[in-house]
Amino acid sequence: MALIECPSCQKRISSKAKECQHCKVKVDGDNQSARVISHIQQSNKLMTHSFVFLTLFIAGVVIWFWGGEPATGMTSYIAVGCFVFGFVGYTITRARIVLHKRKSV
Ligand SMILES: [Zn+2]
Repeated sequence: MALIECPSCQKRISSKAKECQHCKVKVDGDNQSARVISHIQQSNKLMTHSFVFLTLFIAGVVIWFWGGEPATGMTSYIAVGCFVFGFVGYTITRARIVLHKRKSV
């Protein structure tokens, strides 16, 4: 018995299940297409995450150099926070995308 991701709520459910035990969506017998849809949705979600983190990263840089000179005080904390969080988040998300692509459907 394999575990698949629910195409609707992304939670792990049995591939034999007729419906998702979490959100009650019908999974029918067509598990292959459900799995493909789930895989694509997961890819899209990761792409959205990487885009959000990249935006945050760029925002950090922009805030830092806003006004032509390096930020000071509170602004510098916000800038560094966005920068670091965006960078780390983006790196993790890229790694997850690579791992996700390696996973066969
Ligand atoms: Zn579900």
